[in-house]
Amino acid sequence: MTVQSTGGGRRAISAAAVPDLVSKAREGDPRSVGRLVSLVEDESPLLPELMRLLAPHTGGARIVGLTGAPGVGKSTSTNALIGELRRRGQRVAVLAVDPSSPFSGGALLGDRIRMGDHVLDPGVFIRSMAARGHLGGLAWTTPQALRVLDAAGFDVVLVETVGVGQSEVEVAGQADTTIVLLAPGMGDGIQAAKAGILEIGDLYVVNKSDRDGADRVRRDLRAMLGLAERRDDAWRPPVLGTAASTGAGVPDVVDAIEQHGEWLRTSGELHRRRVRRAREEIETLALTALRRRWGSVDDGDRLDELAAAVVAGTEDPYTAAERLL
Ligand code: GDP
Repeated sequence: MTVQSTGGGRRAISAAAVPDLVSKAREGDPRSVGRLVSLVEDESPLLPELMRLLAPHTGGARIVGLTGAPGVGKSTSTNALIGELRRRGQRVAVLAVDPSSPFSGGALLGDRIRMGDHVLDPGVFIRSMAARGHLGGLAWTTPQALRVLDAAGFDVVLVETVGVGQSEVEVAGQADTTIVLLAPGMGDGIQAAKAGILEIGDLYVVNKSDRDGADRVRRDLRAMLGLAERRDDAWRPPVLGTAASTGAGVPDVVDAIEQHGEWLRTSGELHRRRVRRAREEIETLALTALRRRWGSVDDGDRLDELAAAVVAGTEDPYTAAERLL
């Protein structure tokens, strides 16, 4: 296993080095994979070239999102899921996405992952990534980091994110299969309903099933999910129970991931989800390019100038928008 966290001193990568890094990453060299993810995280100007080189090699990985409130057992579950996936012969990458500000100095998710079990395993790669940039943050960088891991030939890429409202919904949008993790004793039912979690899960896992109240959480969750109207051929999200710390129930979760994968393929939903994601990605990149053109990035702040004119009444907002474009 390779565990990498974000930050630290990095050697600059030249454009000429990118094709070589891509070939090495595709051969499974973890350092090269890590350096490519760093290019994404740093919003490197080499990204267009990198993405062009990766494009023909993407689409093979299953992207599985794992989200839930702090303390429900995401890290422990990730560890257990890696173990089970490895037993089934799958190569696994974990991208731990930390939506906190780059300046908060908080502990990064990936740094907390206790993955001691996989230290000697070359089939496991773990990396954390924080929002750092000014060009759209994780919504912009996560899909590109996933492309790197996908092209590097991992069978499964687990995207782990701390459940803090909007970011988990965003990250769920990046995954083929989203697992929402809950645990007893955390006011889950209400929390789940509030956070819009009932819409994003393909699988619901109530962890800490060894604790009192787990059955209750599962029952409540099933009841709430049962209220949602679904078409007859729609996927019905199962509610499973685990004790990640002992591994109990984890094989069932991996079975459910596989079943959902099968449903995604046969129903055509996999293609639809991926097209929707690509649309969003293109839109984000296009908007970023536009902002860069008019914003403070390259050429003074044209937008500020126009805004001042609109406030002064010397320009109307439609004309200002036309000028901007
Ligand atoms: P995260 O913040 O969601 O990543 O949660 P962690 O994986 O760090 O787990 C939070 C705490 O819950 C840790 O002390 C774990 O040891 C504990 N924990 C995780 N899974 C289980 C479980 O299945 N049963 C019990 N009793 N404790 C668990």
